[in-house]
Amino acid sequence: MTFIALKCPHCHSELVGKHGTYNGKQRYICKNPDCPHTTFYTEYTYNACKPGVKSAIHKQAVNGSGVRAISRCLGISTDTVIAELKKKKRT
Ligand SMILES: [Zn+2]
Repeated sequence: MTFIALKCPHCHSELVGKHGTYNGKQRYICKNPDCPHTTFYTEYTYNACKPGVKSAIHKQAVNGSGVRAISRCLGISTDTVIAELKKKKRT
């Protein structure tokens, strides 16, 4: 079992491991014996889904950063950056 850099939303323990998938969602298990909830799901498996990443993309684009620089800085794929910037132009 490999531990990932993720915190349990209930007890904020980092003693968390993957616990298979359910309905296509990654399921995690909290190993803190004092935690009231042992399993949970997260919406934030990918960096691109984290709140703040999208606004960070636009902020860096406004500052003149290229797609590659933004993707490297935020740890997301260039495809994600391009898709997000295209979305912004359309609206
Ligand atoms: Zn917990």
